[in-house]
Order: sequence, then structure tokens, then C-alpha cells
Amino acid sequence: MAETLFSKIIRREIPADIVYEDDDVLAFRDIQPQAPVHVLFIPKRAVATLNDLVVDDALLIGKLVLAAATFAKREGFADAGYRTVINCNPDGGQSVYHIHLHLLGGRQMQWPPG
Ligand code: AMP
Repeated sequence: MAETLFSKIIRREIPADIVYEDDDVLAFRDIQPQAPVHVLFIPKRAVATLNDLVVDDALLIGKLVLAAATFAKREGFADAGYRTVINCNPDGGQSVYHIHLHLLGGRQMQWPPG
């Protein structure tokens, strides 16, 4: 897959407001936040889209979700609630082809989304 700017963030070649890191996952604040809290959780091992996942990636994707929940608890808005989103391909609104989970919190979310 083609490398994206997220690989450069992982390697600290471009700046980002990093808020969480473990062996497999990095998280940083979205540059165009759509909520008071808007953090992107990415695997350090790049996968382009949800469509590219294989069974062996299941643990990695689980770790993204767990990292988001851990962050929400740590930051104190887990009980109030939040939304997680993974966009896939153009109709899903994906613009960066390194899979990422959006964590949005700090305001009432609407449903259905636009
Ligand atoms: P998506 O549209 O689901 O692919 O989400 C990509 C997200 O990456 C968008 O919400 C962008 O605002 C965000 N983004 C793009 N470049 C950066 C960057 N350098 N640092 C942080 N977030 C970024």
C-alpha cells in the first residue's frame, strides 16, 4: 500500500498532538476536530482500509477499540458517552488510507450522521 502521512506521524517526521501510545497503537488529535474531543487511533502497522483486514488483524483492530475506550475513561468522558467511527473508501468518507478509528466526544452526537 502507498504510505500516508500517518506513517510520518508514527515516525515523528511530522508533528502531531499525540495523546496515547502503546506497542501497537498511536493516537493523536484530529487536525480538524468535529467535536470537543476528536482523536484518531491508528495501528502502527499500516492497513489501508477495513476491506484489507484479514483474520490475523482481528487482535490489532480490537486493540484500537480498547485503546479508545481506555482513553475515554482516562479523560473522564466515558460515562457521558462518545462515538467511534471507521470510515471506509470514498462513500464512507475515508480520506487517509491508513486505517484509523475516530473517537468523538464532549458533545451530544446526532443520528443519523450526515
Ligand atoms: P478520514 O476522512 O476518515 O480518512 O479521516 C482522516 C482524518 O485525518 C480527518 O478527520 C482529518 O482531519 C485528519 N487529519 C489529516 N491530516 C492530519 C494531521 N496531519 N494530523 C491530524 N489529523 C489529520
